[in-house]
Amino acid sequence: MWKERIKSALDQQCIDNRYRQRVICHAAGSSINIEVDGEQYLNFSSNDYLGLAHHPRLQVAAARGAEDYGVGSGGSPHVTGYSRPLAQLETRLAHWLGYDRAILYPSGFTANQAVIKVLIEKGDLIIADRLSHASLMEAAILSPGRLHRFKHNDLASLESYLKRYHQSPIDSTSPHPLQLVVTEGLFSMDGDGAPLEEIAEITQRYGAILMVDDAHGVGIVGDGGRGSCNKAGIKPEILIVTFGKAFGMSGAAVLLSEELAEYFVQFSRPLIYSTAIPPMQAVILDETISLLESDEGEARRQKLATNIAYFRQEMEKMFTHLRAALSVELNAELSDGSIFPYLIPSESAIQPLVIGEEKMALALSAALKAEGIWISAIRPPTVPPKSARLRITITADHQEMMIDHLIAKLMQSIKLLLREEQESRREDNRAGANNA
Ligand SMILES: *Cc1c(COP(=O)(O)O)cnc(C)c1O
Repeated sequence: MWKERIKSALDQQCIDNRYRQRVICHAAGSSINIEVDGEQYLNFSSNDYLGLAHHPRLQVAAARGAEDYGVGSGGSPHVTGYSRPLAQLETRLAHWLGYDRAILYPSGFTANQAVIKVLIEKGDLIIADRLSHASLMEAAILSPGRLHRFKHNDLASLESYLKRYHQSPIDSTSPHPLQLVVTEGLFSMDGDGAPLEEIAEITQRYGAILMVDDAHGVGIVGDGGRGSCNKAGIKPEILIVTFGKAFGMSGAAVLLSEELAEYFVQFSRPLIYSTAIPPMQAVILDETISLLESDEGEARRQKLATNIAYFRQEMEKMFTHLRAALSVELNAELSDGSIFPYLIPSESAIQPLVIGEEKMALALSAALKAEGIWISAIRPPTVPPKSARLRITITADHQEMMIDHLIAKLMQSIKLLLREEQESRREDNRAGANNA
């Protein structure tokens, strides 16, 4: 019975500590102060890195956009949904990022899937960084091409797949096979950047196409917030920028050459069969680019960078104190099996605190919630097994005092949890000894 299948899948999620739940989250005035179930929280899980989601200038643009153009586009871009604000935004994005063309999609998820769907045919090869976003991986798995995942940020691993392919192509009957290399500017769960210059060089050497998803880099790094590729001085054939993170809104664009853009316009089904984004959204995004390029944009990026540096520095001190406060014995015990929490080296707004076991990560997230701090636990399969973590995000809206508060509560909660775990392990050992 099909109902059995649904039920057992749900039960298994519970057993695995992977059950996901949405909460009704109310952000009033800013993304960092949220209300959930009548309680106030300090939010350290927001992707609104520059604090633009509530910016008054963008709210004014939204009202103006709605007044001038209505709230909906009224159709797909191929019928009557392609309006002046959309065309202007595409032109501006292309110019801003140094491409012939930009094509708008309703989301980054859709854009990534659209690129892979329109480009990949039988006999083609996709080589993607193992930590690439779910939207890329899913499309790649479902595509008629072959997918290889190269080791995260590992150039030798990437090159070995390209080399192997050149020695023996997948399907020799394909007249014009294509190889697509996929990576991200900044990785969404680890917060580290890719060695873009080197990846671009290798990709070019093998005549492959490079696609970079810069969801977390655009708006933040590079000249005027032009993103990771601008910072690295490269221009991949396909660049994806999304507007749900630093832009504080939603939507995405694919940046490409004139010829590829025309190919997309002919053959990209999510473009042909899906409603175009509302013109008011394009009006807001246009205003956002102006903001990002302004002194205020620069000041917000500066503030974010200062906050990130402060957080990392204070976390280092916290770990030193924590190790001293916990017994050597505990440290030794930790080395067998479970891990001592650690921060993944990252200079970005994404600061992952790896906890290891799903249960521990959930317990820590819950302990922080009880203290009025909101940080979601990220669990497998979103991240590799045994690397459940708190994905802490720092934004330009945070103040030093808030970061201090977070770290004090982190230290307190981690200490408590590790002691509890130690205690329960001792009891298990005792019980084991008594049974023997
Ligand atoms: C968030 C994200 C996406 C999806 O973008 P949406 O606009 O939220 O659909 C794609 N790629 C990466 C790396 C992301 O972090």
